[in-house]
Amino acid sequence: MKKILILGGGTAGTIVANRLAHRLRAEDASVEVVSDSPLHYYQPAQLYIPFGEEDPRKIARSERKLLNPKVSLRIDTISEWLPDKQALRTAKGDTISYDYLVIATGSVPCPEAVEGFVAGADHFYTPEAAYRLYHKLSEFEGGSLVVGVGGIPYKCPVAPLEFTLLAEAFLTHKGIRSNTEIVYTFPLNDVFQIPSVVPVVRALFERRSIRAETFFNLEAVDAEKKVVKSLEGTELPFDILVMTPPHKGAPFLRGHPMADNDGWVKTDRNTLRVNGLPNVWALGDTTDLPISKAGSTAHFEAPVVVDQIEAAIHRQEPPPGKATYNGHVTCFIDAGYGKATILDFDYSHPPAVNEPDEFRHLQKIAFNKLYWYLVPTAVI
Ligand SMILES: Cc1cc2nc3c(=O)[nH]c(=O)nc-3n(C[C@H](O)[C@H](O)[C@H](O)COP(=O)(O)OP(=O)(O)OC[C@H]3O[C@@H](n4cnc5c(N)ncnc54)[C@H](O)[C@@H]3O)c2cc1C
Repeated sequence: MKKILILGGGTAGTIVANRLAHRLRAEDASVEVVSDSPLHYYQPAQLYIPFGEEDPRKIARSERKLLNPKVSLRIDTISEWLPDKQALRTAKGDTISYDYLVIATGSVPCPEAVEGFVAGADHFYTPEAAYRLYHKLSEFEGGSLVVGVGGIPYKCPVAPLEFTLLAEAFLTHKGIRSNTEIVYTFPLNDVFQIPSVVPVVRALFERRSIRAETFFNLEAVDAEKKVVKSLEGTELPFDILVMTPPHKGAPFLRGHPMADNDGWVKTDRNTLRVNGLPNVWALGDTTDLPISKAGSTAHFEAPVVVDQIEAAIHRQEPPPGKATYNGHVTCFIDAGYGKATILDFDYSHPPAVNEPDEFRHLQKIAFNKLYWYLVPTAVI
C-alpha cells in the first residue's frame, strides 16, 4: 500500500486530501494530512473584519471535520524535508516517510521583514491583525489613510484594492470621507500587475478621489513620525497605514534546494511536479509560479495533482489533457457599495473586466457562505 502525505491543512491540502479519499481504494493508498493547526481558516473573510462585517472568531473551523474520515490528520509542524530519504522531520521530533508527497503549506505574511512595519503599520493578513485594525478604524476621525502593497508576491493580489475601495465606502458611511485623504501605493508602474484590470481600477479610483502612488517599493515605516518611505525616495505621511506585508513560504522551505530563498517551491507550471521529482507535487500559495496566490488557484490546481497521483499509483500515464494545469484563476473584487466584479483568466487568456455590479456582489457573498460546504469538502 502506498503512503500519500499532504503538508498543510488549508484550502489546497484539504481539497487534495478529500479528492484522493473519494478516488482511491483504501487498499491502494493511505492519505495523511500534516498541519500545524487543528483549525482551517477561510482567509478571504479577514478582509471584512476591519469594517466590523465579520467576526474573527467565526472564520475558522475544525480541519478534522472538513476531512473525509478515510484521511488521517496529524497536528505537527514540519521542520525539515529530506527528499533523498523521502522523509520529513517534525517539531515534535517525529520522522515521517512517504511514497508520494504534496506540499501545500501556503504563504506567511512577514511584517517583521520591513523596518518599522510592526510598530507603525497595520494589515489584515491574520485574524489578529485584522481585528486590531478594526479597533483603529472604529476610532478613526479622519486624516490620511495610506493603503499599499509592501512586496510582491502576496496572497490574493486583489485584496489591497478591495480593502481600499471598501475603506472608501466605510468612511463615506461613517461621515468622515470628506476629511480623509486616501492614497493607494503599488510597487510597479501602475495600480495592478495585470494590465487589462488597470482601466477599471483607475476609473473607480478617479470617481472616488483615491490617489495612486505607483513605483512605491516599501523601504521603511517611521512609526514615531508617522511617515512611510519608499526605495524610490517618496515619503508619505499617514494617520493609519495599511500595508500588505512581504510574504514568504513556510520556514522549512526557505533556502531548501527544492525552493528559493523565500521558500517558494520550484514547481512545473503544468504538471505541478516539484523540481523534476517524480513523486512530489506542490500547489496553492507555496509554489514559485508567477500566478495569483489565491484559493481559487488551489481549487483549480487540486484535480491536476489528484489525477497525477492516481496515475502514478496505478503506473499509468495521466488521462490525456486532464492532468495539466492551465493557469486558471477566478477572483472577485468587492468594490464596496454592494457591488463587485470578477476576474477570470489563465496562462493564455488575460481577464476581461466589467464594471462592478450588484449581481457579482451577491455571488461573492454567497460564495463566502458556501465555501465551507463546497470547496474544502471537494463537492465542486
Ligand atoms: C485577506 C485575504 C483575502 C483573500 N481573498 C481571497 C479571495 O477573494 N479569493 C481567493 O481565491 N483567495 C483569497 N485569498 C487567498 C487564499 O486565502 C489563499 O490563497 C489560500 O488560502 C491558499 O491556500 P493554501 O492551501 O495554499 O494555503 P493556506 O490555506 O494558507 O494553508 C496552508 C496550511 O499549511 C499549514 N502549514 C503552514 N506551514 C506548515 C508547516 N511547517 N507544517 C505543517 N503545516 C503547515 C497552515 O497551518 C495551513 O493550514 C485571500 C487571502 C487573504 C489573507
